[in-house]
Amino acid sequence: MTISADTIAPRAIARDLTDTIGSTPLIALGNYAAARGLSARILGKAEFTNPVGSVKDRIAWGIIRDAEEQGLLQRGDLIVDITSGNTGIALAAIAASRGYRTKFYLGDNTSPDKRRILEALGAELVTIPNSFFLDPDALEKLFAQAEAENEGAFIANQLGNPANPRTHYETTGPEIWRDTDGEIDVLVAGVGTGGTVSGAGRFLKEKKPGLRVVIAEPGDASVPTEEDEYPDEIDGVHKVLDIEEERLPPNYDTSIADEVLQVEAADAYATARALLREDGLFVGPSAGATVWVATRLAERPELADATIVAILPDTGERYLSAGVFFPKA
Ligand code: PMP
Repeated sequence: MTISADTIAPRAIARDLTDTIGSTPLIALGNYAAARGLSARILGKAEFTNPVGSVKDRIAWGIIRDAEEQGLLQRGDLIVDITSGNTGIALAAIAASRGYRTKFYLGDNTSPDKRRILEALGAELVTIPNSFFLDPDALEKLFAQAEAENEGAFIANQLGNPANPRTHYETTGPEIWRDTDGEIDVLVAGVGTGGTVSGAGRFLKEKKPGLRVVIAEPGDASVPTEEDEYPDEIDGVHKVLDIEEERLPPNYDTSIADEVLQVEAADAYATARALLREDGLFVGPSAGATVWVATRLAERPELADATIVAILPDTGERYLSAGVFFPKA
């Protein structure tokens, strides 16, 4: 096939960064599935192709746009949030392009690469020791601290801001439905804020009530404890089973999941490495986690002919120093 100006689909010139967010491709994990003898179709929703590198570009823009429409943000204003990195990076990039400042509270387990990107973007950072998050009320306390320390700032509140799941209901879900022509049986996602799974899951279930939503949650060895405050973690995702409802993020719809499967960090990392070596897809550990879970599902005889969509939330480049692709320095 010859590539010429006539065969290239036209694309409108983006007015700015935000015009290029979303409409991410579904990519068949062909070599990966074939090497494991899987007949089910596993498709990765390639959120790492967003302009700032993660699924969080969508909600950062959704939250900022919503605040602008409500008159809550003026040039020069400060945007504050609690983040495991990606939301901060997305907010900081969009803030740069629209004239806002940013400040983020993040755990000291955050990947060093993400910290460097946030610093490069000029965000102010407040580091919180991982042990602080062992307190079940940690997020509530940190939220109160962020409000108290930043009077007059706009608190993005990705955990509770309804613009987060709404953005996934309006974009991620419809894109998956359109690009599969409705041929989707299972959606697999992790839960950080719950925005992706709740918004996209709700849209897809409204379209196809029989569709299954499966959550990939970290296994017991992959979450911090009193004994081990710094285990290998799956950045950005948390447990949802056996957590009291009031401790779950408000944006997580507790009725959305049909099933929750555990995956340990070591398996998520190995899967991220496999996707890179076998299909050339450079993704982070939470993508490794959704694909590991998708693989377990694809092995079930009743899903042998299914189409399973796994969310690939971010780029692996954010974890070069985080022990995912190389041993930690
Ligand atoms: N993976 C990564 C790498 C993330 O940063 C996040 C968000 N914290 C998620 C998955 C989960 O997305 P959500 O917040 O929509 O549940």
